[in-house]
Amino acid sequence: MFELFINGFIGIRLLDIIDILLVAILLFELHNLLKGTVAINIFIGIIAIFLIWQIVHALQMELLSKIFGAFVSVGFIALIVIFQPEIRRFLFALGTPSFIHKKNMRFLFWKFNIHSGIILVIDTILIACQRLADNKTGALIVITKRNELKQYVETGITLDASISTHVIENIFYKNSPLHDGAIIITDNKIKAAGCILPLSNKPKLPSRLGLRHRAGIGITELSDAIAIIVSEQTGKIAYAKGGKLYQKVQPAQLKDFLEDEFGQHEKAEKIKQPVMENA
Ligand code: ATP
Ligand code: MG
Repeated sequence: MFELFINGFIGIRLLDIIDILLVAILLFELHNLLKGTVAINIFIGIIAIFLIWQIVHALQMELLSKIFGAFVSVGFIALIVIFQPEIRRFLFALGTPSFIHKKNMRFLFWKFNIHSGIILVIDTILIACQRLADNKTGALIVITKRNELKQYVETGITLDASISTHVIENIFYKNSPLHDGAIIITDNKIKAAGCILPLSNKPKLPSRLGLRHRAGIGITELSDAIAIIVSEQTGKIAYAKGGKLYQKVQPAQLKDFLEDEFGQHEKAEKIKQPVMENA
């Protein structure tokens, strides 16, 4: 009876189970990729249309099935158009050079720890941020990881300078020719200053956040880099990671965050709760 149920009635093979599992993993990863973007609603809508199509098809409701079928058949091209920014982000992350140059590598559910060997001079950056904040000097500092963001480095003035508090302060000093835009730090070198970063187009960001914050969030949406933003208006420090902005952070919190990100924390202590999370 049981065998009949398995073989005759439902007829599930091992391959079908693997098939379903793989699709579930794929959908889960897609969901993670799109979480927090407007594309998630479209993604859910597409899945709903597909499911309804399958149901009306199974129920042999010819007309509805044809209409939904037509939607699904042009859907592939529509998907490429609609998800163009997400596909770009995905390929951007995938095609990143210096694969080994990264602390945390993630493949599906697994995380690997690989150390680059170069330790970021966190304290120097922290002191610079603190001084910039005290003087209410606006700053945008991007620290790269696996992705060296070469195309954004090229939008600025190449420096390749060692990190020092004075250099960072001088760059962002209001009358400096390089104060506009971001600096990009890779492997303890300020690669360039005055870099133009992509802006985040998240609709939910508070309107008081201007372009500097949007640029800081934008670059972390597109890559694995982190961004530190010092507000000219409020003198507050914020940082962004993975498209999320953590505002009004204290130097100690920023230190913890940087140490956690750049591998100087041997203790497994996690980063403190963000004071405010907007995105
Ligand atoms: P603040 O709190 O410092 O005022 P904000 O988020 O309100 O920051 P704006 O006041 O709009 O931002 O800051 C403008 C500055 O942000 C510009 O002078 C420039 O230096 C920087 N900026 C603007 N757009 C970009 C960009 N695409 N990439 C890098 N930097 C940018
Ligand atoms: Mg402003």
